[in-house]
Amino acid sequence: MDEGQGLHVVIIGAGIGGLASALALAKHGIHRIDVYEVASNLGFVGAGIQLAPNMVRILQRLGCWEPIAREATELKIASIRQSSDDKELSRVDFAHIEERYGTPHMLYNACKEEKAISFHFNSSCTIKSWEPRPVYTVTPLDGAPYDGHADVVLAADGIKSSVRSRILKELDVDAEITDSGQSAYRIMLTRAQMANDPEMLELLESDQVTRWIGEQRHVIAYPISNKTIYNISTAHPDIHFAAAPSATYTTRGSKEDMLDSFKDFCPVVQRMLNLVPDGEVCEWKLRVHSPLPTWVGGCVALVGDACHPTLPHLAQGAAQAIEDAGVLAVVLSMLPNQSPSSINKALKIYEFLRKERAETLVDLAAASGRALHLGEGAEREQRDKQFAALVRLKKGPNPDKYLDAEVQEMIMGTDVMKIAQDEMRRALEVGID
Ligand SMILES: Cc1cc2nc3c(=O)[nH]c(=O)nc-3n(C[C@H](O)[C@H](O)[C@H](O)COP(=O)(O)OP(=O)(O)OC[C@H]3O[C@@H](n4cnc5c(N)ncnc54)[C@H](O)[C@@H]3O)c2cc1C
Repeated sequence: MDEGQGLHVVIIGAGIGGLASALALAKHGIHRIDVYEVASNLGFVGAGIQLAPNMVRILQRLGCWEPIAREATELKIASIRQSSDDKELSRVDFAHIEERYGTPHMLYNACKEEKAISFHFNSSCTIKSWEPRPVYTVTPLDGAPYDGHADVVLAADGIKSSVRSRILKELDVDAEITDSGQSAYRIMLTRAQMANDPEMLELLESDQVTRWIGEQRHVIAYPISNKTIYNISTAHPDIHFAAAPSATYTTRGSKEDMLDSFKDFCPVVQRMLNLVPDGEVCEWKLRVHSPLPTWVGGCVALVGDACHPTLPHLAQGAAQAIEDAGVLAVVLSMLPNQSPSSINKALKIYEFLRKERAETLVDLAAASGRALHLGEGAEREQRDKQFAALVRLKKGPNPDKYLDAEVQEMIMGTDVMKIAQDEMRRALEVGID
């Protein structure tokens, strides 16, 4: 057995990043994993998510792809349309899987099968110190705080990560939360709600993801859950957002404000938004922060949105959290000993392999948003010429980076776990401690 497999790993947060890390570590033989989650259980978020092939590859290796695939919808075409009149600007063949936001539950079910993993809900957790080994403090909802020791702490505590603040404070560096100025409505319409509208039903029956783009805003929509639900997500200026968003950056939005935000969009979009029942509008504030100087402090590492929150325009936030998990499992399980200095080196290899790639995608997602949201003018004309050329020539750069062939190859064609294994082998040859 590699010594790494004897590590005690504590994971803070049971979102996609924390759950995927726990499962990946257990599948790599690490046999003591404690997951602390402040919430009482895994709440269901009413939204679909796009599962890009780089995420699917890792979920397959973790053995939890089958149940997700059973409920997913495979999409083959992307249609980019002008928001005002529904005119198609571009049409691209692509392969993505769309699903109801079930991944956390499937990951959780798979984690529950692993003896190595213990869950502690209703338990807020943070780092107290990390020299020489990490000490963490757990504050249970109904109990007194207590401290614990671990060999490694992985902080998957989301965009508002307290561990991130703690690490940066200790290193005396700053990373600003950036106000993207955007928020998103996430909506799911059932087949029954759409039944009287042939145009909407056609969209629900299609294998197509449709993006309606306009100045400063867009709507993206696709069928999910075996085409029983039409999933809609928007991006728009957050002028209506409540002054103090919740811990998860979500709020109950107003239907009137939502309709107002998209009042100059084509009739089919307006009809879809109109179907949302009053009181069921959920708005997400979209936040990013400037790149961090490091993701690692001693034997503590950040994971997922805690270190690389990504605007949704590239559909890669969760995928990147899962890539983090896969790489962490490889580097930690291959450790030849459990010394803090070796653990730190393995975490630094994780950072080296992941940081640049994740931050490139953060930038690409932001750039894509800017291109999609252009107003009237020369830049927009140029963009639309590129969209048209893609239809004619079937190749060339795509202003929507989520559909750009080169970007897709870079994202989907990279097997981060394989690269991590090679990198770790090289490090072990030279000597890691
Ligand atoms: C509109 C929108 C659309 C998106 N679409 C896609 C998509 O199509 N494809 C894709 O790949 N990604 C998508 N994403 C991104 C994706 O949802 C996130 O990147 C991903 O869920 C982040 O997971 P995480 O585990 O890092 O963080 P989170 O999901 O935020 O989880 C953090 C967890 O930590 C817990 N926690 C926080 N503090 C503590 C503490 N002190 N102690 C204990 N627990 C704590 C929280 O309760 C939470 O459960 C989208 C995001 C948005 C907003």
